Amino acid sequence: MLSFLVALSISHQATSVGDTIIAIRKKGLTELGAYEMLNELTSKIGARVSGSPEAAKAVKWVHRQLELCGATNVSEVPCMVPHWTRGKGENAELNRNSQLSICALGGSVATPTKGIEAEVVEVKSLKEAEELGERGRGKIVFFNRPFDPTLPATFAAYGGANDQRVGGATAAAKSGAVAVLVRSMTLAKDDAPHTGAMRYGEGTKIPAAALGIQSAERLSAAIKKGKAKVKLTLNCQTLPDEPSANVIGEIKGSELPNEVIVMGGHLDSWDLGRGAHDDGAGVTQAMEALRLISQLGLKPKRTIRVVAWMNEENGGRGAKAYADYATHATEKHFAAMESDSGGFMPRAFGVSADKLDKVQPWLPMLRDFGIERFVAGGSDADNGPLGPLGAILFALQPENQRYFDYHHSRNDTIDKVNPRELEMGAMSMAAIAWLLSEQGDLLK
Ligand SMILES: [Zn+2]
Repeated sequence: MLSFLVALSISHQATSVGDTIIAIRKKGLTELGAYEMLNELTSKIGARVSGSPEAAKAVKWVHRQLELCGATNVSEVPCMVPHWTRGKGENAELNRNSQLSICALGGSVATPTKGIEAEVVEVKSLKEAEELGERGRGKIVFFNRPFDPTLPATFAAYGGANDQRVGGATAAAKSGAVAVLVRSMTLAKDDAPHTGAMRYGEGTKIPAAALGIQSAERLSAAIKKGKAKVKLTLNCQTLPDEPSANVIGEIKGSELPNEVIVMGGHLDSWDLGRGAHDDGAGVTQAMEALRLISQLGLKPKRTIRVVAWMNEENGGRGAKAYADYATHATEKHFAAMESDSGGFMPRAFGVSADKLDKVQPWLPMLRDFGIERFVAGGSDADNGPLGPLGAILFALQPENQRYFDYHHSRNDTIDKVNPRELEMGAMSMAAIAWLLSEQGDLLK
């Protein structure tokens, strides 16, 4: 009898949670609030490089928007951020007769005003660049190892190539190179260059730029013919750090207000596009998830909080500042969910490996949003630092074949975002947040 009553109460609870998720779906798919917010963010503010006036505007915009979404305790968690600017007039010319499509990598130093002209030597790896020795001296080193196209997961292909972007300049400088060009981190066949963070290690700092794929192929062909000289001009600059902030807002828990479920994305972006998929999508999905819960009049047991993290792209200062804040807070971070893989159709959620079995019963309630499975993981750049504080980590994994066509390039714009697919991500986050709030004890 007792087991019958327990079963009855669990099934009743499951039904009502299921009904709530259906209500979230009906409202979400009717109103498409994430898209409306993303459209406003990308059209009125645009790109949001850390430390820029646009990033500062975006902080104010999220603050106001969270209030409109029904969040309480909207506030800012301050952090100092790096401030790098591209400058005007970046340029690359091959053999003094044709333009190459390039962009400075984020964090790069400038060339002298008159540019750097040198012969180009092609390599496929950091090791090869370091071992060039005298053959690299005074040259421009060109990193041309493409994404592995045989990998079905594009994030894995990215992971296999982006050491060239991040560490290429330092490796080439060891052989006395004067600059580096790096094949863009993409599988697209167009000529849009893709920027992204690079870092200097020990040694001389040399300028670094990305090449569009068609330009990379053209340069490689010229090298094979025996002569390739490039004149590179970059006018980027690193300015003093600027004050900035993460923005937070919440719905206070009715029974366990000190157990916090965080969800969010990063508000900063690179400068070439509008930061639509990366990561205006994640920020507006989290705001929309909170809006849906608020406007449906739902009263979560645990506190549900949105965080718009700052400076994911080139420093992670916002993630660190929020983790410091969480460390010193009296509340406990029960779970932390991040969306930073684009606003495409959801497919899966990464979740902390030790909770993988326990979340499986939730899967049927998430299928409407395209979620086919949970996979071990869940740690991303901004929620990751909350893992050691005990938060269960979740990361939205949408369909990924198009993400790197746009990522960090001029093509990361709102016209590449489908409103319903974006909303599916927002609703799946609202559903997970609600499940964590109401049934989180099942994960303990
Ligand atoms: Zn991102």
